[in-house]
Formats: sequence, structure tokens, C-alpha cells
Amino acid sequence: MAYLEPAPLLDKENPFEAMMSRFRAASQILGLEEEVYNVLKVPARQVIVSLPVTMDAGNIRVFEGYRVVHSTILGPSKGGIRFDPHVNLDEVKALAAWMTWKCAVVDIPYGGAKGGVACNPREMSAGEIERLVRAYTLSMIDIFGPDKDIPAPDMGTGPREMAWLMDEYSRTQGMTVNAVVTGKPIVLGGSLGRTEATGRGVMVSTLAAMEKLKINPYKATCAVQGFGNVGSWAARLLSERGLKVQAISDITGAYYNENGIDIEKAVAYRDKNKGLLTGFAEAESLGTQDILTLPVDVLVPAATEDVITANNASEIKAKLIIEGANGPTSSKADNIIYEKGISVVPDILANAGGVTVSYFEWVQNRLGYKWTAERVNRRSDRIMKDAFDNVYKTAVEYKVSLRIAAYMVAIDKVAKTYKFRGGY
Ligand code: NAD
Repeated sequence: MAYLEPAPLLDKENPFEAMMSRFRAASQILGLEEEVYNVLKVPARQVIVSLPVTMDAGNIRVFEGYRVVHSTILGPSKGGIRFDPHVNLDEVKALAAWMTWKCAVVDIPYGGAKGGVACNPREMSAGEIERLVRAYTLSMIDIFGPDKDIPAPDMGTGPREMAWLMDEYSRTQGMTVNAVVTGKPIVLGGSLGRTEATGRGVMVSTLAAMEKLKINPYKATCAVQGFGNVGSWAARLLSERGLKVQAISDITGAYYNENGIDIEKAVAYRDKNKGLLTGFAEAESLGTQDILTLPVDVLVPAATEDVITANNASEIKAKLIIEGANGPTSSKADNIIYEKGISVVPDILANAGGVTVSYFEWVQNRLGYKWTAERVNRRSDRIMKDAFDNVYKTAVEYKVSLRIAAYMVAIDKVAKTYKFRGGY
């Protein structure tokens, strides 16, 4: 069977190939029928649109936009919208498939999708961005829908853009449809607990993995790469649970303090310093990459993709890696890390707290009812813990890494559902 060929070894990776190499490996161990493999390996729908937008200067610029629905087998598709100059169809395809596996691994009733527009929001005014969001929404009107495809924020977009999207969609329907998108401002039906949800899920997965590895959180040290939404919440919640966070980092460099960093102080500093840690005096300054190879127990890459590669994997000293970011480890580094005996809680599991609370936002919108933060946190913690236990059990049973086990759990669920639903 064609898919049983070994996956190519990759380093700085084409994101679609990186996803496919894990998908192939997990499918092989599961013994997935080739027919089902062939259905799941391709996106269900790929749309490319041209979006003419009037710029503030009066000229019209045409932006290219994408929406890829990878799968609707488990339910309406779910996935963010990325505004970035480098967005391309291959990347959106990979991220859409990633969403299918992520939703399946935490057992929420969604398929996977992703969208993007090739643009640089940092060089655009709020008015230009609003017109672009509205044009994009209108061009996707046949795709989006609370029962069909539910977008959310991703790089370069946030609650403001989701509010415009919801408004534009609602205008076309002649009524307010807030369940068409998640990640909205709280006043428009956003969920309490969404901001910290991904970092919180990282914390839950970290503690669950530490329990299996018999590492006492109160005696453990930790380094967190990236100090944005995911990294700073993960660092804060992990330090609240007893871990000594010795290093944090962002695009400006890494900051190390052997005695532990006061995360509240670091957050306050960042918020006053244009979102950056540069000049943070409570810690020694290191190079950006140095954070990955520090002698800590737990490493949380929560910045960006492909930071752990074949070039630095053998230098990693942590016993446990929790992937807060999407795709921080290249597929070529997977084997090096596995052979070193380092446990990795993979992205599709570790950072799924975000999509879980997005699902809660959609549930609340459809109920017309608001949950307390306490209820949101309790339910998402339970989902993350159950998902971790399920993946761990699979890893032990099949003697595979947690990453391959997570893909196996996800693919098995989607494949079984596909077979029950049947096809043509
Ligand atoms: P963010 O923009 O809020 O923060 C990113 C942080 O990483 C910033 O501190 C930035 O300075 C830093 N950074 C960027 N490039 C870096 C580099 N090369 N080296 C060191 N630091 C670098 O983004 P975020 O929302 O925290 O997302 C981080 C990662 O988590 C992304 O991979 C994202 O796809 C993933 N993720 C986010 C969510 C969510 O809910 N926000 C959910 C799932 C996955």
C-alpha cells in the first residue's frame, strides 16, 4: 500500500508534509484501510478567493484569501483565520487537517478547517482591516455557518475581527447569529475563560504527564518559550501549581533566573513594555535559542513552529516537553527526542484547551446562556485530563510516543465515524 512507505525525513518543514508524516505513521500502526486513509488525507473543500478592498488612500488592493475545510465527518468544521503575509494554501491545508485531529483527540463534535488571508495587518489601518474581514466573510458566506463551518481567531486576528465577521454574517441572515464564530469579545457572546484556556490546558497536560513520570511539581523546574497568550498563561498557571519557572522568552531573547521568575512581575513588565520582555531586569539575559537547551525538567515551547529540529534536539535536557505552540517540533526531531527518552505531549493534545473552550462558547451561544468561569474551567480541565489519559493508555498499549498515540486516537475516531456514516 502506497501509504506504508516510510515518511521522508524532514527538518525545516513544509507544514503539510510534517502533518502527513505523523498521519502516515499513525495510520500504519492502526492498520487503517487504504480507502479510508485516502479519504482522510485530502481536504474535503479548498476555496481561494480574491478580495478587492478599498484602501485609505482611495486605491483598491486585491488580497488572496483561503478557507480549507479538511473534514466535517465529526460535525461542523472549526478553525481559525490567519492574517499573515506568508499565508499560503499548503499551510492552510496542513492547519485544517491539524484541527480535525485536535478536535477528535479531545472528543469534541467538530471537524477541522482553517482560513487565511495573505496580508500584513500591522501595516493596515483598523478601517482597512475591517473592510477586508467583511469582504472575506461575504466571499465565504456559503461555507460559514453555525452548523457548517465556525471560524475563530488565529495569528494576526483577534476578538475585534471576529466581531466584524459575526456582524457581517448576521447582516446577510437578517438576524444576530453569534454562534457563527468563536473568540468574540465577551459582550458579544465570547466565553469567560477563553483567554487563558490554551495555557490552562497546557498546565493540565503538564501536571498529568508529570504524575505519570513521577515528577513532583514542587521540586520541578521549567522553561517556557514564548510569552504571548499561551506562554504567559502557561507560565503563570504552572508556577501557581508549584513549578519553578526558571526561564521565559520571547522574540527579544530569553530571560533566566535560577531561583525562579516571578511571572506576575514579568507579565506586568511586558504589558508596560509594548508586549515585549526586552530589558526585564529580574533575570539574566540569554540568546533566544538558549531557552530550549537549559537543564530544566519541563520545557514548554509556546512560541512558533519548527523550533526543535534535528540541529538542536540532541542538546535538549528536559525530561518532558509540552507543545503549547502548533508544530514546534520538526518530524525529523521526533525520533531523536524519542530515542533520548524525552516524553513529548504533542500539540494536538497539549494546546487543545483553546478549541475546547471555543466549543463551550458555541454551546453557550446556542443555549442563549452564559456559564461562569468556574464552570468553563472545570469542564475544560476534565476534557483535557480525559484526553491525556486516553492518549497515554494508547501509547502504553501500542508502545508508541504520545504524539503517534494522539494521532492514532484521533484518526481512529474519525475513521470509525466515517464508516458508520457511510459514503457513496
Ligand atoms: P502570541 O502572538 O500571543 O505570542 C507569541 C509569543 O512568541 C510572543 O511572546 C513572541 O514574542 C514569541 N515569539 C515569536 N517568535 C519567537 C521566536 N522565534 N523565538 C522566541 N519567541 C518567539 O501567540 P499565542 O496565541 O500565544 O500562540 C503561540 C503558539 O500557540 C502558536 O503556535 C499558536 O498557533 C499556538 N496556539 C495558540 C492558541 C491560542 O489560543 N492562542 C491555541 C492553540 C495553539
